[in-house]
Amino acid sequence: MRIDLHTHSVVSDGTQTPTELVQAAHDAGLDVLALTDHDTAAGWDEAARAAEATGLELVRGMELSTNHHGRGVHLLAYLPDPTHPGLAAELARVLEGRGSRGPAIIAALRRVGIELTAADIAAEVPGRPHVADALVRQGVVASREEAFATYLNPGRPAYVDRYATPLTTAIEQVGAAGGVSVIAHPWGRGRRDTLSPSELERLAGLGLAGIEVDHQDHDTAARAELRGIAGDLGLVATGSSDHHGLGKVNHALGCNTTPVDAYERLLELAAASAAASSRTTPEVVPGVRT
Ligand code: AMP
Ligand code: ZN
Ligand code: FE
Ligand code: FE
Repeated sequence: MRIDLHTHSVVSDGTQTPTELVQAAHDAGLDVLALTDHDTAAGWDEAARAAEATGLELVRGMELSTNHHGRGVHLLAYLPDPTHPGLAAELARVLEGRGSRGPAIIAALRRVGIELTAADIAAEVPGRPHVADALVRQGVVASREEAFATYLNPGRPAYVDRYATPLTTAIEQVGAAGGVSVIAHPWGRGRRDTLSPSELERLAGLGLAGIEVDHQDHDTAARAELRGIAGDLGLVATGSSDHHGLGKVNHALGCNTTPVDAYERLLELAAASAAASSRTTPEVVPGVRT
């Protein structure tokens, strides 16, 4: 069983439609895929139809934009009811923040002599990667990476802050919505201090279900350390690609995977959360297990 629990489609900042993503996952020999677009469930229905057609097992998820001690933290949420009022309100607030950031980024780019239009960066869930892609299309930079490094990262001329849900609120709301939460790439991009072992212990006490251990942002030493912390705290240790289609190099589908026992435990925790929430939560689309 090959299980990949963190991927993106064009609904956020991936480059494949949900259908293409599911097909690619099937072609890559995966048995289980989670679609985890940023801050939205909008791709779920299409992905579920494609999964049913191919025999792939599909977990409906999302990657929530949160903030912890002033740093951005990505929280994977699996199988929550996206219509739960508390969760839905946060998703709407984040989307609003993403929408109003667009004109501010365009204005900031104009100040350094680059002209983009709203249409250049439009998307269902607009993010900096769409701005990066527009800069690549215009020939301003050669890649998304270069666009972030030169213009879009904090401290660069076109960086604009936006709203993100407090991490502890997000964990609570995902639980209230009957889902389970897993911190994505906890020690990626210098977040080791934000998410220290003692912080992770506190978050586990608030209902955090797991941490993503095997991720391209973590080197071998970080993976070993995080695996130890997960074991100590009783957190599920997952592994995933964080695939973005052509949008991120070195993140091919299945490049990291989640062990079957970890996946089964996550599903058990999700079932318990769903039962305790009394919400109508989404089902896993059953696959043809090999
Ligand atoms: P945003 O959601 O608009 O804040 O943009 C953050 C997203 O951009 C992340 O979720 C990644 O998918 C992507 N990203 C962040 N840094 C980089 C980078 N250096 N190169 C390519 N993509 C990046
Ligand atoms: Zn992304
Ligand atoms: Fe992420
Ligand atoms: Fe991601």
